[in-house]
Amino acid sequence: MPPAPQHALLFEPVRIGPVVARNRFYQVPHCAGMGHAAPRENAAMRGVKAEGGWAVVSTEEAEIHPTSDISPSRELRIWDEHDVPALRLIADSIHAHGALAAIELVHNGFHAANRNTRVPPLAPGHMAALQGAPTQARRMDGADIDVLRRSHKAAVERAIAAGFDIVYVYAGHQMTLPQHFLLERYNQRTDAYGGCLENRVRLIRELLEDAREVADGRAAVAFRFAVDELLGDDGLRSDGEARDVVGMLSDLPDLWDVNLSDWANDSQTARFAPDEGFQEPYTAFVKALTDKPVVGVGRFTSPDAMVSRIKRGVLDLIGAARPSIADPFLPDKVRDGRSEAIRECIGCNVCVASDNANVRIRCTQNPTMGEEWRRGWHPERIPPAASEAPVLVAGGGPAGLECALQLAERGHPVTLAEAEKRLGGRALREASLPGLGTWARVAAHRVHHLRAHPNAAIYPESPLTAGDVLAFGFPHVFLATGARWRRDGVGASQRTAIAVSAGAAVFTPDDIMAGDHPAGEVVVYDDDHGYLGGVIAEHLHRAGCRVTLVTPAAEASVELHLTLEHHRVQARLLQLGVDIRPHRRLTAIDGVTTALACVHTDRRDELRCDAAVLVTERVPASVLLDRLTAEPDAVERAGIATVRAIGDAEAPGSLAAAVHSGHLAARTLGADAADMADALHRRDGPSVGGEA
Ligand code: ADP
Ligand code: SF4
Repeated sequence: MPPAPQHALLFEPVRIGPVVARNRFYQVPHCAGMGHAAPRENAAMRGVKAEGGWAVVSTEEAEIHPTSDISPSRELRIWDEHDVPALRLIADSIHAHGALAAIELVHNGFHAANRNTRVPPLAPGHMAALQGAPTQARRMDGADIDVLRRSHKAAVERAIAAGFDIVYVYAGHQMTLPQHFLLERYNQRTDAYGGCLENRVRLIRELLEDAREVADGRAAVAFRFAVDELLGDDGLRSDGEARDVVGMLSDLPDLWDVNLSDWANDSQTARFAPDEGFQEPYTAFVKALTDKPVVGVGRFTSPDAMVSRIKRGVLDLIGAARPSIADPFLPDKVRDGRSEAIRECIGCNVCVASDNANVRIRCTQNPTMGEEWRRGWHPERIPPAASEAPVLVAGGGPAGLECALQLAERGHPVTLAEAEKRLGGRALREASLPGLGTWARVAAHRVHHLRAHPNAAIYPESPLTAGDVLAFGFPHVFLATGARWRRDGVGASQRTAIAVSAGAAVFTPDDIMAGDHPAGEVVVYDDDHGYLGGVIAEHLHRAGCRVTLVTPAAEASVELHLTLEHHRVQARLLQLGVDIRPHRRLTAIDGVTTALACVHTDRRDELRCDAAVLVTERVPASVLLDRLTAEPDAVERAGIATVRAIGDAEAPGSLAAAVHSGHLAARTLGADAADMADALHRRDGPSVGGEA
């Protein structure tokens, strides 16, 4: 079926040097926490993107030499011939679905601490390494630069041998040597590679020329270039030297892949960069300075926004990392006029966090992401069920919605009962807080499909009792009843309740999200360390409270290091005037003050406080489960074969975990124990005698 006329532009082919992209959808390089440690998983994941219609599917960065050893991060390697079979697996998987395969060759310079290889990191000069303190990098001499150029050329040759169509020279994210040479603050050399801009660009130019010479028309050469660091005059600016760089190199690469540096600026979350196309003000200048195609990103999920960028001459190709993770079939859905079926990225950076934690990629919106090989999951297909047994799902939050939708897809008649008027559970509750509006997409996508599904019946405003469940007698029951925040302060840092005087005003996040507001001087106690404590502090400040955030950690929302947000969280709270008190436990609340204890010395102090909000730990809402478990005979008499808690009702966790739990439950209903074990334990990785 041809695309709708207003989106036809997106399906025009684009020439990139010697190769042709079949349309304008370009999956730019992104990490996946798989890398050289899990090549089969990687190949399957990239293959699904190609199947979903992306014209170009890129790998994550591939280290070109043992002096670029980014371990324990799990990226690709192209150090020597040994790496080629695994890379070929990935290229073949992409080609199997008609896409071009691109590989992001990298030397990480002093961003790599070389923890495994134990050789000193390399940099334009002697300086502290960006990771792995107290490691220092050593200054590269002329011989080192020769080795770098030779290994980059060898990597290009190997990449072509492995089947890649596009090879990258990469100068971005503050993570690569060519960029380190470009940036004045890192490059104070006095030789031909330092000083004036022409000298600082020299290494990039040489790598591009080398790559073109080796590729010799067998592959395109892309240049990934970060045009702005958002550091003002302290860094590279898109209205400064970056323009000169593009002008100097103009038509040397076959493709410009442009973005922001560092990674926290490139992959900004919806909380801090709400607008689709947020990079346009920085990258828009590039097209005027080159005749070569330009690809750029900006969390694009709307085809109209994409068309606008092409028509206005901002981009030639629509780049996507996160939108392609949330929906690998985004291009096909646009082509088929099914844009409303796109699982839109919510900009939460759970995908980024998984890579930063060195585990396989996951996604809040797409529970199949990272499970393509290990569990054999596909984002658009699910095997039909062996039976058409009816199923009851109690609770319409992320877990219940996902479970019900996938069960309906498998052919089960599904009844979904939700206590509240609106479906969505915590996704909707949290979406009412500042910066979390996109969380509602988790519910909206699933509700949209469930409402249209012939196998699904939805009953809002239907709080179920155990008696109801027994009376209905569905053969299978899933309890997706969620969890509630504790009111007693028990959490990671203290396993006994905080002393609270009678009449003291104590709130939980559930109260706040229900619109119940404290006033005056408020202490937000964050012993959860995710996003919620910081978001509630911001929310209450905006509602007129004087807020102090107390946390046992060293920073507010400390876990958001993983989503690359922690710096922005501190900055926002401090700029608003929220007082952050780190390293403190909250020990007592008496209605006038809260008592604090230093987590290191136990030294005590006090804070004035009219009310406290305790963000510590959640308890599963298990009333239904407890009642049904207590009455096994009644359950059997009712004809109920299985009862299972899923999502937060099983174990409170992230939105991503709840969606994944619902998906897993639906996929495995009716599976025998051996299938389950196989699905859970299928292992990738290099094996003795294996091809990886
Ligand atoms: P999860 O993240 O696991 O999906 P949520 O807390 O988001 O959990 O959603 C749980 C949903 O279950 C909420 O919308 C809540 O209103 C609903 N719920 C809780 N108990 C019942 C019940 N007994 N019957 C029907 N719905 C319920
Ligand atoms: Fe988008 Fe979040 Fe999925 Fe990443 S995890 S792709 S940010 S929805």
